[in-house]
Amino acid sequence: MDSQQLGQTSAMAVGVLGFGGLGQAAARVLATKGEMNLVAVADKQGYAYNPAGLDGQACAIAYQQQGSVGYLEAGGTLSQDSIADLIDQAPQVQGYFLALPNLPNTFMAEVAQQFIASGWQGVLVDALKRTSAMEQIWGLRDELQRAGITYMTGCGATPGLLTAAATVAAQSYAEIHSVKITFGVGIANWEAYRATIREDIAHLPGYDVETARAMTDGEVAALLDRTQGILTLENMEHADDFMLELAGICDRDRVTVGGVVDTRNPKKPLSTNVQVTGRTFEGKTSTHTFTLGDETSMAANVCGPAFGYLKAGIKLHQRGLHGLYTAAEVMPSFVR
Ligand code: NAD
Repeated sequence: MDSQQLGQTSAMAVGVLGFGGLGQAAARVLATKGEMNLVAVADKQGYAYNPAGLDGQACAIAYQQQGSVGYLEAGGTLSQDSIADLIDQAPQVQGYFLALPNLPNTFMAEVAQQFIASGWQGVLVDALKRTSAMEQIWGLRDELQRAGITYMTGCGATPGLLTAAATVAAQSYAEIHSVKITFGVGIANWEAYRATIREDIAHLPGYDVETARAMTDGEVAALLDRTQGILTLENMEHADDFMLELAGICDRDRVTVGGVVDTRNPKKPLSTNVQVTGRTFEGKTSTHTFTLGDETSMAANVCGPAFGYLKAGIKLHQRGLHGLYTAAEVMPSFVR
């Protein structure tokens, strides 16, 4: 469907909340797209808004050199309540990618409630990871619907791209025995993705979200020194299970997620894949495997799907379909 068929006469006006590793990558992705125009960004200390479009690179320079996009000369504003102030200033933004840390584990649900309370109507997309966090968003589905918000949850890589792939793969089977997601992430340094790494540490034995959140940067660095920069994660609490259960694919206890993160090398330690095992109608047991290309970064596999689901969400919103959807329920659109 082209932008005319979408009812769009011009590029979709979109925003990115959170301007760390994923937020900055999201701005770079959008710089290559004609169908979406980045008009709003926010970080913890400020926001930037320009209805004609923001220069993502200038935002990144302001963030990296001065600590906030609020320092941007054209359109930047410093604020200790940046999300609320931005929503207030920019009612015409059609949709946001929430590239925010979910620390504490209730943070994303609080942001969703902030949008509901504001009266803004549009599309929100998250790349939430934890099952217990997504269940909080699920609890808001009626309020989201009444508020006229179309909320797409779990729309990163895992949950996200791989959960959607599992949903498609499941169609060959009469019964699904298991969905096994194994991810490999390679990043050059952990500071580029602080929230992602803290949230991963929270899955290690002996840690939880609160202990990981409370760790200083020095403590994180010391932990990574002890493991040569490698985090090995097993049986993670990942919302792929909840999403596949909601989509009617299989019970959540049949879904497992684990992986290896190398925080000192952009090369992936292993190939990210999802294996879907099931029984066909003829009684044969088989496994479909979907493997991501090793050259695709975490940022590419999160931000690409997030904007694909944002475009799909904008179409749903325009048809009057509000409320909560997961990445296992709706096909992402391709943003050109
Ligand atoms: P980061 O630490 O690099 O950046 C976080 C950003 O959020 C910063 O710019 C910070 O200023 C901003 N922020 C924090 N509190 C804020 C507030 N109250 N108001 C406005 N802005 C605020 O984070 P990251 O590593 O890019 O990760 C972002 C999220 O993406 C994490 O929750 C992570 O778990 C998730 N993630 C999901 C997937 C997936 O596949 N689903 C993959 C990777 C990361």
